[in-house]
Amino acid sequence: MRKQIAAANWKMNLTLTQGEQLLDTVLAKHHALTTDQQVVFAVPFPYLQAAQQKVAGRENVFVAAQNCYSKKSGAYTGEVSVEMLQSLGVQVAVIGHSERREYFNESNRFLAEKINICLEYSITPIFCCGEPLQIREAIMQNEFVKNQMEESLFHLSAEQIKKLVIAYEPIWAIGTGKTATSEQAQDMQAYLRNVLADKYGDAVAEKISILYGGSVKANNANELFSQRDVDGGLVGGASIIADEFVAIINALK
Ligand code: PEP
Repeated sequence: MRKQIAAANWKMNLTLTQGEQLLDTVLAKHHALTTDQQVVFAVPFPYLQAAQQKVAGRENVFVAAQNCYSKKSGAYTGEVSVEMLQSLGVQVAVIGHSERREYFNESNRFLAEKINICLEYSITPIFCCGEPLQIREAIMQNEFVKNQMEESLFHLSAEQIKKLVIAYEPIWAIGTGKTATSEQAQDMQAYLRNVLADKYGDAVAEKISILYGGSVKANNANELFSQRDVDGGLVGGASIIADEFVAIINALK
């Protein structure tokens, strides 16, 4: 079975002390994970090391960066390299979140470079894709998201793409309280798995975890995660409320 994943995206929230308390509470309260389940905490860069220490020794619990730069090293003031992440023991990075695309102009082609460097350094990218509201209203969402995948991912080999996690996050559902229905999530995610199967074959497509993101909460996680092609969630707002995120972890298939 492919991995079922509850990934927290804290975004630019919480102080170090608040973050540590949140981690302590969530880690103390969630159900034991099966071998097919994983929990990921994408925390701000300055907290990576502290978070790594908190999860140390826990099976299937990972700390992630929320971003990384596309170059190995050099004169890129303010940026963080995958080598730096690796030196902290970080194994996962969120790539192409819609907030990065929108506020920092990250293009599909630029994200392809980030994906490449993550894979080169054995960091698992959680690749985010998803359409804005106007595209959904024009019923062009399939073409839009397929294009994001083609431009950022389809240069990869089958062996490489199997190492990715994909997060489908319709932009109109992020931080808005407006969740996609479980049917909308399932339809798109089944479509994305088909797109992957057409390019890489069924066996590869079946191995890739596809998460849903967009106002996942304790009260809708069960319904969303019960869908065949929804392998868990990338969670923003609800991931910084301990009881909410615990319930979301406990809703994993
Ligand atoms: C996100 O940050 O990826 C996200 C889906 O946010 P929210 O859960 O708040 O919609």
